[in-house]
Amino acid sequence: MADPEQRLWCPSGSAYAPESLVLAVREGLDGPPAYLPAPRPAAEALAELADGVEPRRLLRLASHCVPHCLNRAGDTCTLATRLTATASPRAGSPLPPCHLRPACKWWTQSGPPACRACPQVATRRSAPDR
Ligand code: SF4
Repeated sequence: MADPEQRLWCPSGSAYAPESLVLAVREGLDGPPAYLPAPRPAAEALAELADGVEPRRLLRLASHCVPHCLNRAGDTCTLATRLTATASPRAGSPLPPCHLRPACKWWTQSGPPACRACPQVATRRSAPDR
C-alpha cells in the first residue's frame, strides 16, 4: 500500500472513513478473516452487505490511525498492547498475508506478535465504530 504521506493505518478501523479499506472478509459473522489478494475500498464492499449487518462482523477494515482515538495513550495504541499481551498465537507461525503491513500501526508498534494475534480480533469485543 503506498501512502504518499506515510501515514499509519489502524487494522481495526472505521468502516466509514473516506479512506477505509477492506483487508479481509470473515468466514461468517465474527469468523476468522480470509485476507484479500489486494485491499478493496470499503465503500464498494459496504454497498454489497445485507441491510442490518454491522460491517466489522463480516469485514476486517483499516482506516487512518488518528490522534483522537480512544485507544491511544500518547503515540501508543493500547489495543495493540492488550492484544499482544492476551492473545495466544503459536510462536513462529506464519504471518497473515496482509497488505497493510508496511503502513500498519500495530506492526510498527509491536511487530510479528501483533500480526500473529491480529486475526483473532473479534468485532463484538471491540469498541463501537468511530
Ligand atoms: S497487525 Fe499485521 S496482520 Fe494485522 S493489519 Fe497489521 S500488518 Fe496486517
